[in-house]
Amino acid sequence: MSKFWSPFVKDLVPYVPGEQPKMSRLVKLNTNENPYGPSPKVLEAIRAELGDDLRLYPDPNGERLKQTVADYYGVQPAQVFVGNGSDEVLAHVFHALFQHGQPLLFPDISYSFYPVYCGLYGIPFEAVPLDAQFRIAVADYARPNGGIIFPNPNAPTGCLLPLAAIRQLLEDNGDSVVVVDEAYIDFGGESAISLVDEYPNLLVTQTLSKSRSLAGLRVGLAVGNAELIEALERVKNSFNSYPLDRLALAGAVAAFEDQDYFEQTCQTVVASREQLVVDLQDLGFEVLPSAANFVFARHPQRDAAELAAGLRERGVIVRHFKQERISQFLRITVGDAEQNMALQEALGEL
Ligand code: PMP
Repeated sequence: MSKFWSPFVKDLVPYVPGEQPKMSRLVKLNTNENPYGPSPKVLEAIRAELGDDLRLYPDPNGERLKQTVADYYGVQPAQVFVGNGSDEVLAHVFHALFQHGQPLLFPDISYSFYPVYCGLYGIPFEAVPLDAQFRIAVADYARPNGGIIFPNPNAPTGCLLPLAAIRQLLEDNGDSVVVVDEAYIDFGGESAISLVDEYPNLLVTQTLSKSRSLAGLRVGLAVGNAELIEALERVKNSFNSYPLDRLALAGAVAAFEDQDYFEQTCQTVVASREQLVVDLQDLGFEVLPSAANFVFARHPQRDAAELAAGLRERGVIVRHFKQERISQFLRITVGDAEQNMALQEALGEL
């Protein structure tokens, strides 16, 4: 801390991301990255962009990407917002849409960046407990609030809230913005984007970091009513005129255009997840039903922190959260066959 810091910075508690180790021989199953590389067409598009034009600013509106996303989801470009990863998109969402004085509601077990943004923007919040099966109970959100946000599938549980329950939540909360954070939706869920024309209070965020394997490129998006999007644009344009750099814009467009590669890799991840669930159950783990590219598992007789430490000693990193109620769980990213085998072997030794 320095005397030059503003009092505001002194009180900030920043988000701590999962470890990004330098040693490439580690089996990295801790931050839900995709084990398969991005589409070769994405790499081609980025290479094609590597030229003299880098001296020029990128499109301040990201129009081609917005049009591509709009065509993909059957909405208008004015209903699409793009930014540097969904973390940045979410920062703008909290800033632009959740400042109403009433508490923002989100599940007590969910993405740990939400309370951080509340701290950053001074937004009061209430963490609503998950039910006994670790599911989101929509009836618990039907009360005055300054907005609602939750990941679907939820993170770190992997549990999916069906579209009918989201519809109920939107009906119950017509006066507040409901944000569905669909970072993991492509691994088995149905996107709520199909509801945006029906519900002007619905905003859906997505990322290219997981199902399109572009965590390193930092591209996220939001889809919703054009008036919600306009609020995000105002905040963004008061912060940075350019939503994405030239390489990210070109790569993101190509990622949406290569539907075959996307479908094929998602199917492979889903098949590996189902196998991983069976393998973990064979080892005595209880696994929550997952619609994501990770599983959330606990062993009734083993301490999760010790298991995580033992795996680490054997070169396999998974995520362990100290938070009460989930401190006996491990969140394990679905890897490729080799990574999943290394995990089995390491667990077998423990
Ligand atoms: N939402 C959830 C629920 C996540 O788990 C993540 C990834 N940590 C994000 C948003 C952010 O993803 P990104 O910034 O890479 O788009």
